[in-house]
Amino acid sequence: MRVGVVGGGVIGLCTAWYLRKLGADPILIDSSTLGGGCSLGNTGWVFPSLATPLSAPGLTLKSFLWMLRRDSPLYIRPAALPALIPWLLRFRSFCNGADQKLGIAALAALNEFTIERYDELAADGVQFEYSKSGLLMAFRDADMAAASRKEVKLAAAAGNSVWTGSWSELDKAALHEREPLLRPGFRFGLALEKERHVRPESLTAGLGSALRERGVEIHEGVAATGFRSEEYRVTAVATSMGELDVDAVVLAAGVHAGSLSRMLDWRLPLTAGKGYSITIEQPANQLRQPLYLGGIKIGLSPFNGALRIAGTMELSGINSRLDPARIRSLRRQVSRAVDIPEANDGGQDWVGMRPIVPDSLPVIGKLPSRENVYVNAGHQMLGITLAPSSGWALAGLMLEGKAGIGLEAFSAGRY
Ligand SMILES: Cc1cc2nc3c(=O)[nH]c(=O)nc-3n(C[C@H](O)[C@H](O)[C@H](O)COP(=O)(O)OP(=O)(O)OC[C@H]3O[C@@H](n4cnc5c(N)ncnc54)[C@H](O)[C@@H]3O)c2cc1C
Repeated sequence: MRVGVVGGGVIGLCTAWYLRKLGADPILIDSSTLGGGCSLGNTGWVFPSLATPLSAPGLTLKSFLWMLRRDSPLYIRPAALPALIPWLLRFRSFCNGADQKLGIAALAALNEFTIERYDELAADGVQFEYSKSGLLMAFRDADMAAASRKEVKLAAAAGNSVWTGSWSELDKAALHEREPLLRPGFRFGLALEKERHVRPESLTAGLGSALRERGVEIHEGVAATGFRSEEYRVTAVATSMGELDVDAVVLAAGVHAGSLSRMLDWRLPLTAGKGYSITIEQPANQLRQPLYLGGIKIGLSPFNGALRIAGTMELSGINSRLDPARIRSLRRQVSRAVDIPEANDGGQDWVGMRPIVPDSLPVIGKLPSRENVYVNAGHQMLGITLAPSSGWALAGLMLEGKAGIGLEAFSAGRY
């Protein structure tokens, strides 16, 4: 079975990996370079304990107005607002306790397999930087610590047996003992012991090499521009280098899966939740483990010989425009929180587009408008975490008729 996988980010790569493993012939097409999109400069956390939908109860007019402030962790660019309103109204309809609970349960079911799949990738010989050092969360404010504790408890209560009971609370002294680079204002901590992290660019490079070694056809710098269909079946992907005949297609183009789905008569309402990062090579000071700064919602990851600072969620449409003011705000906030001299000035700035649909759950499954087109996209802040389990589930569905878990909550048909 020749499967055209459109998009070579972490999701497309993992999908191709499991399709190959189950005996199919994936053809990977990426308009840029493998792993060069949102999968490039992120923090690389594999963090099932915090897997929740972005749509949470409590979205008030006040919090909405706060989002229009340029230094807010969740920022809506006023100029982009008119075009975003329909999407935001749908997003708002999911901001309630019942939908949040359903979303957490669905993500927990998928995450049940996250660690198993990651360990399997490593055991199968995929080369990537993979650390099991847990995650430390630090808060200045008791309310913020309580809100995060509640989220961790909700995710654990959703039945994710791998994670339940794997976290503990830290007082100020224990927190600063764990991470001496933290500045004194932080008073509350949560230690999540089983979380892991990868260097994302090593993961995508490792998957690309492993797929090539297994004979998978990979086309970089080749954009999918359309599809040839006979009745309700796609028979070829039209690309910038000509048509590629296929038996099936997977749309794994991140935020661009929305425009591709429209070519196939289905409207997946994907938008971009932009995030920014700064990567410092050979930092003067290094963190002991990944660190989440609560309240300001910034994540920091130590890698071999490097440190990455990442954060912010910006809704400003589908474009890769980097707003220097957002980077300046990230630097300012980190400098006040952690003793990392290069946070003030230095390192490589980056912006990436997290693919998000209004209920902020991934879309994994068949596209209802075609018999042989599937989607694997919309993984919001969780694409690195969920990529292996999503690829595994979709490949199982396509080739064996069973995904290994229920995919109803992730169906494309819900839109
Ligand atoms: C600052 C930041 C921090 C993050 N931290 C984490 C984290 O710690 N843990 C976590 O789990 N997740 C994290 N994420 C989220 C994660 O990065 C994303 O969910 C994930 O990378 C999405 O992967 P993807 O493959 O769907 O999209 P992408 O990586 O964007 O890949 C899509 C690919 O499709 C290609 N493409 C697009 N259109 C076409 C076309 N027409 N034809 C062919 N190819 C096409 C693009 O070139 C691109 O390579 C973070 C994101 C950001 C921005």
